[in-house]
Amino acid sequence: MVRLLIKHNACAPYLSAASAASQDGEGAQEKAQAQQSGEEEYDPFVKPKDAQKVGKYTPLAWASYKGHYKVVWILLKQNMSPLDIDMHGNTAVHQAAASGSKKVLECFLSRGVDVEIKNARGHAPLDLATQPEVKELISKATSTKNCANKKGCNSKFDFKNIRYYCESCKQFFCIKCSKSMWVFEAVTDKEEERSVCRCNVCAENISNQEKDLKNAMATMEFYTVDKVLMHILNNNIDIAVKLKHAAQVLHLKLEKELDIRNFIRSVDHIDDYKTILKSVKILNDKVEAAKELEVDLDNGLLGEVNRCTQRLIAERNLRFEMESLKVY
Ligand SMILES: [Zn+2]
Ligand SMILES: [Zn+2]
Repeated sequence: MVRLLIKHNACAPYLSAASAASQDGEGAQEKAQAQQSGEEEYDPFVKPKDAQKVGKYTPLAWASYKGHYKVVWILLKQNMSPLDIDMHGNTAVHQAAASGSKKVLECFLSRGVDVEIKNARGHAPLDLATQPEVKELISKATSTKNCANKKGCNSKFDFKNIRYYCESCKQFFCIKCSKSMWVFEAVTDKEEERSVCRCNVCAENISNQEKDLKNAMATMEFYTVDKVLMHILNNNIDIAVKLKHAAQVLHLKLEKELDIRNFIRSVDHIDDYKTILKSVKILNDKVEAAKELEVDLDNGLLGEVNRCTQRLIAERNLRFEMESLKVY
């Protein structure tokens, strides 16, 4: 719905003249990058706007208040500013703080948005926050005075050196020690609409884990994929969602195939022929269960299952005949 409205230019009235001009094509992205790298002129001595006159309640303020973080991402990607004010001088940051939308606040913090800005009554977002975890997050931001890259940077934060929140390690970094990007939120997404910021260390770690996972998947060995994937899942490493999904699908396939292969091996020789039909049933149930989970079993393995089934049934029939004829 939000995407549809944006497509029909519904957000145009809420964009400032400068950002509206750069809406078409690549312009929007360039501007976002310019903002990111601090090229945008920032004058701390400019007079605050008169909220009564220029303030309006924006879609971003609404989404922030409601905690609809996915909508917030989409609107930010359209270059809507979280610092636009309503009639009371409240920014979208105030709205998120007041309603306790932690995820929205994390998003603003990861984009280096000022969380100390005051509304017309002199209230900062922290003053409006009621939820402990939201208060804690804002306090953590405002009390972090230096870049968390202690050895390599440690630069002091001020109005020019803005702090960016790394959602992976939950610390604040300067622009040089962090990266902001758009990634896919869900496997089926066609557009990258999730805003993320990672410190350089977390970004490198995530990219290394992605490489390891791709290499593991190329081996097509269950235990190799299992080891890397479980490490990623257990440590909540924020790898690309589509890669994660592909790895999970392959993991399940390799697991089921290994189980079926092991079972075929276990029925190589059966002492008690009376259990043979039961084994045939177990084997074929395994195949069915895998198919029900939409596992795309290897064709070669399906051939093995058929040959094994036929051999077992032939063996069972032969031994049944022999016993009924009492041939010893
Ligand atoms: Zn980090
Ligand atoms: Zn730094």
